[in-house]
Amino acid sequence: MVMKKLVLSMVMAAVALGGIAATKVVAHRGYWKTGGSAQNSIAALVKADSIGCYGSEFDVWMSADGAIVVNHDPSFKGKRMEQTSFDELTALTLANGENLPSLEQYFDAARKCGTRLILELKVHSTPEREAEAVGKIVDMVKKYGYEDRMEYISFSLNACKEFVKQAPEGTPVLYLNGELSPAELKELGISGLDYHLSVLKKHPDWIEEAHKLGMVVNSWTIDNAADMVWLIEHGVDLITTNEPVVLQKLLSGTYGEK
Ligand code: MG
Repeated sequence: MVMKKLVLSMVMAAVALGGIAATKVVAHRGYWKTGGSAQNSIAALVKADSIGCYGSEFDVWMSADGAIVVNHDPSFKGKRMEQTSFDELTALTLANGENLPSLEQYFDAARKCGTRLILELKVHSTPEREAEAVGKIVDMVKKYGYEDRMEYISFSLNACKEFVKQAPEGTPVLYLNGELSPAELKELGISGLDYHLSVLKKHPDWIEEAHKLGMVVNSWTIDNAADMVWLIEHGVDLITTNEPVVLQKLLSGTYGEK
């Protein structure tokens, strides 16, 4: 209770500073901490949209036979993403009973949603496979007409460079790994940073530096209200969280209310 009051007063201070309205909510792997959902499932995308998240993040891999599927880990239920066929991967079931989705199925479901699609390309075994995956993703986005609702993120600098090269100009591409300054990213044509909280706490000046360079700042994966408040107070543009409802309550000033 004391903690909630403390957080609430911090939020009020952030509101007074005017930093709050700008911060947007990204559901990490969709909104999955709710009934009938699972990480990186179609249900998680639909549920993130249904609660009005600005964006829904999801992870993708390229299968052994060159198709794009949605999943986080390098292997799932004993099957290596990069070494298993598309048919085998999409036959696997997620915790909510859904089949592991293809990117195509994910995009089909997104037709009924307005939320932005925050696509993370996982680090693949070779730069060539990453380049091929980026090409396939960009082509599919074009086929669906989703160019204006995509944001691309990756821990692979090579993948980020490929998105910069292959996606339409102006598409947000954010780097996740944390070791490059905003100016260094800008030099590579990357439009933003999506860094762990610990990196931004170590380099709080990077937030302002990024904004001065016209870049976007996101932070992950923030599930704690006090951390959310720190980021809001520091003017971070987007927060990626497993607790989108908590963040929404903080932003609307209803956190701590029954
Ligand atoms: Mg991810």
